[in-house]
Amino acid sequence: MALEVISLAQREAEKNSATAIQEITIEVGDLSGVEADAFESALGLLVSDSILENTSINIIRTPGIGRCIACAADFEMTHRMATCPKCECFPSEITGGQEFRVVSLMVE
Ligand SMILES: [Zn+2]
Repeated sequence: MALEVISLAQREAEKNSATAIQEITIEVGDLSGVEADAFESALGLLVSDSILENTSINIIRTPGIGRCIACAADFEMTHRMATCPKCECFPSEITGGQEFRVVSLMVE
């Protein structure tokens, strides 16, 4: 995952004929399957000598949101198998927190 982000940044920089990237913002959903802290430290180790070496890296964590299929309540899901806190129904439709994407990238 961290490597993918670096190569994406590299391609973006090339597209814009940029030599450096000022800032990158990555959104990591709690239900994306990517552990934000682990991702951040992996990225931290991999950025040296890459296009992101001097970039300020922002990681935004988005909470998991589910909508109960039975009662339509929206609630925060801490994991994919969470049951509805109102009616204890299962399953629920996941409506947020699955994203793993670069939301912005500022080239120099
Ligand atoms: Zn419910």
